[in-house]
This record gives sequence, structure tokens and C-alpha cells, in this order.
Amino acid sequence: MARGRDARSFDEDDVPTRANPRGTRPRSKQRPAHENAVDGMVIAVDRGRYLVLAGDVEVTAMKARELGRKSIVVGDRVGVVGEVSDAPDALVRIVRLDDRATVLRRTADDNDPHERVIVANADQLVVVSALADPEPSYGLIDRCVVAALAAGIEPLLCLTKSDLASADPVIERYEPLSVPAIVTHRGGPLDELREHLAGQVSVLVGHSGVGKSTLINALVPSADRATGRVSAIGKGRHTSSSAVALALPGGGGWVVDTPGVRSFGLAHVTPDDLLWAFPDLEDGATQCRPGCEHTLDYPDCHLDAWVAQGHSTPVRLAAFRQLLVSR
Ligand code: ZN
Repeated sequence: MARGRDARSFDEDDVPTRANPRGTRPRSKQRPAHENAVDGMVIAVDRGRYLVLAGDVEVTAMKARELGRKSIVVGDRVGVVGEVSDAPDALVRIVRLDDRATVLRRTADDNDPHERVIVANADQLVVVSALADPEPSYGLIDRCVVAALAAGIEPLLCLTKSDLASADPVIERYEPLSVPAIVTHRGGPLDELREHLAGQVSVLVGHSGVGKSTLINALVPSADRATGRVSAIGKGRHTSSSAVALALPGGGGWVVDTPGVRSFGLAHVTPDDLLWAFPDLEDGATQCRPGCEHTLDYPDCHLDAWVAQGHSTPVRLAAFRQLLVSR
């Protein structure tokens, strides 16, 4: 069954014609103030300092004043000027912020009054969930899937500890959404996961105890050293909540660890944002009454008739509605 649009086929030409998620519309590019800027990718951020991979050198950079208050996050593609070298006191400035292909964000909540962009330009959101000890949190998985779909990012389930419980119930639950799942067991091989991560920028999220750190250490043997370099840019105390991009060995993609992200505030996600990932339902919803939010609280929602006409399936509509109410 067709899942939503393939995030990898998402390009900028697509954007203006879609009812696209708020904020994922690429921002206009900064006028290049420095034509000799070196292209780089932001791999960590800590209190106003940025670790940028520029060419094959990691440099600590500050944001140029001309970029104003615009936030720069992990995954951002930037241009830097200055002494791009390994020298410890090299002074490098970020002078350009490129358009973002995707924006993974979370809404303000009680702990943080600001809506935040967590990661830019991610291709994939890997939801790591144990099958037991702790048991899967469907609420969390649903919310991660919503965050990914609304951002135009592919969701992927990584189900750990299959030596403790069967993965079947979880796989069946997400099958109508065509969310792929990879099953691992403790101490087992990770080849299938590596295949899915190759060449992608993948954000990993998961509760503590699900085995996310174990996975990251297995995938990126130098993860601890990389995190150490991040501590260095922030003058010693790495804030554990910030995201860090870790290069997969062999130059084949990135995993972004998000130690502080246990869930996503999703108040910024509208029904339209989510419909965008359900092309089989999207056209039907255009015939709904204005203001219809398509849940069971809206008994005259046109989507029931739309499905009865054969444009989609009841199980797919139910899965869409399940995600809507999980926001
Ligand atoms: Zn409706």
C-alpha cells in the first residue's frame, strides 16, 4: 500500500503547490556575504558555539553578527569563513545558512516555552523502542511518527530486545501506515539497520532503557570521543539535552543522537500537515466542511464516504485518525 510521499523525492519544486507543513517551506537563502566561504555541516551546538564539519576538518565556529537571531541547529548546511584548520584557537564564523530540506521541530511545553527546531535536513526519524523491559509506548511511537510525517521525514521503527518479546504486535499496528520496522535482539547483528542508515541523515529517538545508546555505540564506535569534542566547544559542560550528529564509519551517512528528546510537543502539527503524508485521503478531505478535523468527533467528516467510494481503506483511515488524536 502506498505510504505518503517519499521524503527523498521531496524537492523544492514541490513545495509551493502543497499544503505543506508550516515552517518546512525552505527559507530564502541568505545573500552570500562571503564568496570564499567554505561549505560545512553543523554537527553540534552548545551555548552559542557550533561544531562544524567543513571539508574534512571539524572547527568550532561562532555565528556572524549579520545572521542576526536566526537559529542554527544540528544538520544545518552553512558557509564558514576564517581559519578552517585543526588549530585549537582557530576563529571561524558562520556567515551563511542554507535552505533547509526538512525541519524536525517540537512545540513549546511546560519545560520549554519556545517552539524549537531540533534538527535540520534529516532524511529519517528512527524511533527506537524495546519490545519489553520497558514495553513499547505506542503513544510515544505515534507521536514520533506524526512528527516525522508532518516534517516530510521518513519514519523507521527499530524494535530492540526481540529476545524478550515478539515484534509482531508492533509491526502489525504500524503496517497500515507502511512504516518499516527493523527488529534486533541484544548482542545480535545490526546489518539491516546499517543498510537503512547508509547515506542518510537519521535522527534517533527513544526512551531511556530501550537500548538507543547501545545501538549508537555499536554503529559509531567513536561516539564517545565525538561527544567529548562537543564538550570542548561548550567549555567543558556539554548540555546533555542537545543533539549531536555522529558520522557513520566509512563516510556513509549520519546518525543524530537526541539525548534530551523523549517526546515531541506536537501542538504545531495541524490535520492538514498530517494529511500531506496521506495522498490517498488528502483529496477526500477537500470536500469536508470547513473546520473539520477529520476525527470521530466530526461525524459528518467526508473521509468516511471517501473510503466507502474505494479511494482508500478503512484500516488506513483508522490509522490516520489514530495519529491525529495522538497529537
Ligand atoms: Zn473531515
